[in-house]
Amino acid sequence: MLSRRDFVKLIALMATGTVGTACALEDFAEFEEEMDTHTTTHSETGSSDRVIIIGAGMSGVAAARTLVDAGYTVKILEARDRIGGRTHTASWDGTPVDLGGAWIHGRLGNPMTRLARQADARTTPTEEDITYGTNGQPLSAQEKELLQSFTSGWGDWLYYGQEEADYDQSLQALLEQIIAEEGLSAEEARLARFYISALIEQDYAGSLQQMSTYWFDEGSGFGGIDLLLVDGYGKIVDHLAQGIDIQLNTPIQTIRWGNDTATIIDQNGESYPADYVIVTLPLGVLKSNTVSFQPSLPAAKQSAISQLGISVFNKCYLRFDEVFWPEDYDWLAYVPEQQNRWPSWLNLDKAIGLPALVGYSTADYGRRLESWSDANIIADAMDVLRTIFGPNIPEPNDSIITRWLSDPYSRGSYSFIAVNSHPSVRQDLAAQVDDTLFFAGEATSSDYPSTVHGAYLSGVRAAEEIINM
Ligand SMILES: Cc1cc2nc3c(=O)[nH]c(=O)nc-3n(C[C@H](O)[C@H](O)[C@H](O)COP(=O)(O)OP(=O)(O)OC[C@H]3O[C@@H](n4cnc5c(N)ncnc54)[C@H](O)[C@@H]3O)c2cc1C
Repeated sequence: MLSRRDFVKLIALMATGTVGTACALEDFAEFEEEMDTHTTTHSETGSSDRVIIIGAGMSGVAAARTLVDAGYTVKILEARDRIGGRTHTASWDGTPVDLGGAWIHGRLGNPMTRLARQADARTTPTEEDITYGTNGQPLSAQEKELLQSFTSGWGDWLYYGQEEADYDQSLQALLEQIIAEEGLSAEEARLARFYISALIEQDYAGSLQQMSTYWFDEGSGFGGIDLLLVDGYGKIVDHLAQGIDIQLNTPIQTIRWGNDTATIIDQNGESYPADYVIVTLPLGVLKSNTVSFQPSLPAAKQSAISQLGISVFNKCYLRFDEVFWPEDYDWLAYVPEQQNRWPSWLNLDKAIGLPALVGYSTADYGRRLESWSDANIIADAMDVLRTIFGPNIPEPNDSIITRWLSDPYSRGSYSFIAVNSHPSVRQDLAAQVDDTLFFAGEATSSDYPSTVHGAYLSGVRAAEEIINM
């Protein structure tokens, strides 16, 4: 997820001409502690119940931490050879870079802010932004004015789509309706599509064609600016996972449940008996049916799994011998000819002192790129960079490209509410089954879906369901 809502705010601010003002990091530490009502402290009750958690992503590790602190015996079974799941801090020649979740979205009251402090994880704001038009030139005054008008108009359009329209429709359908009704020229329509795509697809990562106008922005958020984790999310995950029994390289194939007990079977046929199981399998994995539930999950849960949408959000890290882009900006935004073709770049030189850019490919465009070779993806990204910075910029000397949709243990980036669905399906996904199976993970979070903090809080919630049994 791109600096959630941050990029959006910047696009809006860019249109109003207020971008460029450095955003000082006020010291809200005390306020955060006060706001952070999610800290759970349990007395060490002890319990002989065996709890198995499937998945060592943020939700699984949070659930384990909560249970272990309450005296439970817990084991996490994780398919990969690492923990963290969709937070993955890789070492790029010694520099930590996040290939999955990277920002704390809304620092005030966010449990991640507190955990970052506890884990000594450094953070930095990423607020400064410049936008280039399709021809590669910074936006003209006229284009800025037009964007400004979309910024003011969007609230009304959305009000119409969410409050007045008799039926739900895709955001793309709403957008095209607006373009037609407002009589926008081709140039204006391209800018409108860029604006809405930047506003929504770069954030929710679902395709405008698939996202529900009624419900795409369900859920809540924390206040304050977003913060990039300089040392990567890995530092927080490692901090939470200290002392937890985690068995890596253990892909689970079958979950047998019933009669107040469960048996988990891995791909080697090894079985693990449990009194309680917390399933944190990503929505994409649940959709793929690669893990079999015996007996099948209740109909409401199956329906929730099929109704929720799964997004595509990928990163293309390009490192160069030298910086050839403006050093003072965190974000380089671009209005592409083709919707969502490399519309935003993060300047890692400013953020963490690495001469590299990160391009983001999301939604339909990102889905298409997943099947391309690395060389073709880099060529496509470089084509856009050359449009902005000229034909003579150097080739990258190294790259990292993610493919979260093809990854068998994520099968997508994060969840969204698809057209004609309803946010209540998240509660169906979260609901416990038979006092034995408990569910956590970002997709089960009604308040903070699609985020690391949502995953964390869902893990705490699932653990507390067991503790409160
Ligand atoms: C590219 C990208 C950027 C993002 N950016 C941000 C951001 O900046 N800020 C933010 O708040 N959120 C961001 N998100 C979303 C955030 O990363 C996720 O919502 C969150 O990490 C999900 O945590 P989780 O515990 O629900 O799932 P996961 O982290 O996916 O954990 C599930 C675990 O289950 C394991 N597993 C899967 N199948 C099996 C199996 N068969 N057997 C055993 N184990 C299995 C997986 O390997 C994984 O470790 C981003 C996501 C992506 C992909």
